[in-house]
Amino acid sequence: MTISIEPLISEAEIRARVVALATEIAPRLQPGTVVVTLLKGAFIFASDLLRELARHDLDIHLDFMALSSYGNDTRSSGRLLINMDCQKLVENRDVLLLDDILDSGNTLAFAVEHMRFKGAEQILTCVLLDKPSRRQTPFQADYVGFTIPDLFVVGYGTDYAERFRELPFIGHLKE
Ligand code: 5GP
Ligand code: MG
Repeated sequence: MTISIEPLISEAEIRARVVALATEIAPRLQPGTVVVTLLKGAFIFASDLLRELARHDLDIHLDFMALSSYGNDTRSSGRLLINMDCQKLVENRDVLLLDDILDSGNTLAFAVEHMRFKGAEQILTCVLLDKPSRRQTPFQADYVGFTIPDLFVVGYGTDYAERFRELPFIGHLKE
């Protein structure tokens, strides 16, 4: 079994889109907004986006959360597990949730519900990639980097069995 990775979105395209996203998002972030990054997949996206947001002179706080769905195949089971909850109090604060890929919608729908449960005010969501054709739970992100077809992608933080996260571009994984 050989694995090949076909480039889908280049470093330069990602870079340009991240700059544009920061410009779109910045005016919506009230002082004290907690930016919650979903680990591990969104870590590179978040680090690039946050450094762009820094150019907009905001007062934001960073936190992280790790969720996983029960079962470990490429299909989401719809049942989510909190592996690590965020540490900051989000009660009465705005939250910006960052994730790598919006696929079935189960993860972000759960994360939004969880933030609401913790008492967050306005909750905004931003994903690097959206695969609308795969939705199981109706969900629309407020900000989307790229809309892509139903392909399994890796790189720029996203993995295949923990490999390829370090790639600076997004590639389509072929077996
Ligand atoms: P959802 O709950 O929306 O189905 O799940 C989204 C999560 O599934 C993403 O955060 C990501 O971890 C994983 N995922 C969905 N599609 C892909 C993909 O094409 N490649 C990789 N590496 N992970 C994916
Ligand atoms: Mg993920």
